Formats: sequence, C-alpha cells, structure tokens
Amino acid sequence: MTTSTLNDILGKALAKPKALSQEEIACLLSARDEASLFAIFKAAYSLKRRYLGNKTAFRGLLEISNQCGKDCLYCGIRRSNAAAVRYRMPPDEIFQRALEAKDAGYNSLVIQSGELAREEFARYVDYVLELLMPLEMGITLSLGEQNLETLARWHALGASRYLLRIETSSPLLYSSIHPPGHSWEKRKEVLSFLRMAGYQVGSGVMCALPGQTLRDLANDILFFGDEDLDMIGMGPYIPHKDTPLADRDTGFTNRERLDLGLKMIAAARLYLHDVNIASSTALEALDKSGRELGILAGANVIMPNITPHSLKEKYSLYEGKPVSGDDIASTIPRLQSRLRQIGEELLLCGRGDSLHYKNRTNRKQA
Ligand code: SAH
Repeated sequence: MTTSTLNDILGKALAKPKALSQEEIACLLSARDEASLFAIFKAAYSLKRRYLGNKTAFRGLLEISNQCGKDCLYCGIRRSNAAAVRYRMPPDEIFQRALEAKDAGYNSLVIQSGELAREEFARYVDYVLELLMPLEMGITLSLGEQNLETLARWHALGASRYLLRIETSSPLLYSSIHPPGHSWEKRKEVLSFLRMAGYQVGSGVMCALPGQTLRDLANDILFFGDEDLDMIGMGPYIPHKDTPLADRDTGFTNRERLDLGLKMIAAARLYLHDVNIASSTALEALDKSGRELGILAGANVIMPNITPHSLKEKYSLYEGKPVSGDDIASTIPRLQSRLRQIGEELLLCGRGDSLHYKNRTNRKQA
C-alpha cells in the first residue's frame, strides 16, 4: 500500500461513518510497516477523541461462573475440558464484590460467565440482578445465548447492556471452530433478541483465528455496521493447551496477534465512529501495556477484572490470561496514573453508556 492510498482511505474514514469498502478495510488490516500502523492508530484515536474526548470508561468485570454447556473448540472453559475446575459464585459474594467496587468508584459492572441455557441458571441470574439493583450501577451481561423471555426479564431487572460476540461473521469459519450443534444463525438471532429486549447491544469477534483471512476480518467490520451495534468487544485468539483448536497452528507470533487486535480496534473506530469499543483483556495478555495500546488505537472502554483472586485462574479462557491482585480499591488509582501517561482520564461520573445507542434511540424518537 502506498502512502497516498493509505491517506486517501484514512481521509475518507475520517469524513463520515461507514465510508469504507471491504477492500479498503482489508487494505488497512494488511498494514505492517511502523509508519502505516502509526498513521492508522493516530487517525482512529483522533476519532475517539472527537466523539468521546480524552475519557476512558471502565467497568469492573466479574466472572461469576465457569460452568458451561457449550463446547467451543478454542475455549478453556468448554464443557469437555475435564481439567477445568468449575465454580459458581454465590449471589451474596457477588453482591459483596459489587459493593466494594461501588465504594471504590466503579459505576458499572460486566457480569460474565460460561453459557448455561437452562431455567435454573436464569433464576440464579434473576436473583443476582435483584440483589444488585439497589446499587444502581450500570450492568452489562455477557452470559451467552439465551431466549428472548429470559433476556427481556434480565433487562427489566436492571441489566441495560449485553455482550454476545458473534466470534466471526463468516458462518463457514464459525463452523470450523465449533463442534456440530453450535449454530451461527442461532447466535445471530440472539443479537436480534437483544435489540428487541431494549439492550445496548454489543458483539465482536476474535482475530488471528486459524483459517481466517483479512477479507473475513474486513467482513466482520462491515457486519458490525449492518447490525448497527452499540458496543464492540474484540480480541486476538490465544490458544489454550487443553482445547482441540490448540493443535491447529495459526502461524501467528504474539506480536502479530497484538498488532492485528489493535488494527481491528482501529478499523472498527474508523468505520463506526460513535460506538463503545473495549480494549480487551486478551491484548493485555499479549503485552503488559496492551490496554493502553488499545485505547491509543481507538478503544474507549477498559474492564478491569475484579473477580476474586482465588477464582480468576479457574476462569481460564486462554493461556496467559492476567490474574493480577485482589484489592479492588487500588485498581482505580493505578489505572488513573497509567492512563494519564497517555493523556487519558478515567470517566468517573456516569455509566459510560454507548453514544451510538443514545444517537440511535434519539433518532427513533425524533
Ligand atoms: N459464554 C459467554 C461469555 C464468556 S466467553 C458467551 O458465549 O458469550 C467470552 C469471550 O471470550 C468469547 O466470546 C470469546 O470471544 C473469548 N474467548 C474464548 N476463548 C478464547 C481464546 N482462546 N482466545 C481469545 N479469546 C477467547
């Protein structure tokens, strides 16, 4: 790619949302030399500043259970991984943790777990949400595929955001990283349920998957636009030794995984403009400054892990997942000082709702 081609693409992307073609996005994702990467990240970060200022939103991530009915070929907590030690946090422990987070200055939580599509699990989550309600924190759920009735009930119980990664927008690639019985179409349908139930809808993909092409990744970015998503959570695939996919060599070095993860963040910002984009934990697993690099590539949300220390390592999705300390209160000053080094401030007031969600719901009312 020549410098003038790159400048043309970036100029177009900066002028308005959804301006780029599949080829142009793939072209951005193919960049490898330092100068091109620098230009791409700089343009994406300038858009983040234009829409969201120098504020980084943050949510405390609580991994409430690693029990899982799914068998995704890449995931360390898949049902068939007998080496995973299973747990479920009791609701009062979740409440205690949330309370500590609130006292420390967190206004929002992400409640994540393995996926159990059964009534007993849904009732457990009902109870958790009822306990959390008086704290008046922003609640994001990330609990996998659920039916519309359950999703609507959780929304009524105070959860306002939901993250469900489509994992890849290619049904063919999806079927190569999941066993039979896992359906891409079903997962996509659940995204429409989330919309119907009134959530701020988040989705995303993994990059650097075996067999994935730049064209697949460019299509992922277009998919986010077609789905009119409010929030994006993406990260590089990192093998986990106790999973079937670990045997399939992706040929990526960790550096390449990191760069691709950052380029996907930048491409999403350049294409979508006003969405919330998370700087994922997987980036941090690849580089200890991964989170800051994600912000500088256009992300605006970080999710410090506030799961109790003893459980963190049991929620092992991939190798090298960070399992830092247990003290919630110290996470905020530490983050503040790290972010200040890159000219960012934590968004300490408000819940950091998606600007895209506000824009699209205002549009609807007008
Ligand atoms: N069970 C829930 C959420 C938990 S998994 C759900 O299905 O939505 C959260 C995310 O972790 C997944 O969507 C997937 O994108 C990511 N993940 C799982 N295994 C991974 C791996 N080996 N490397 C990187 N990300 C992984």
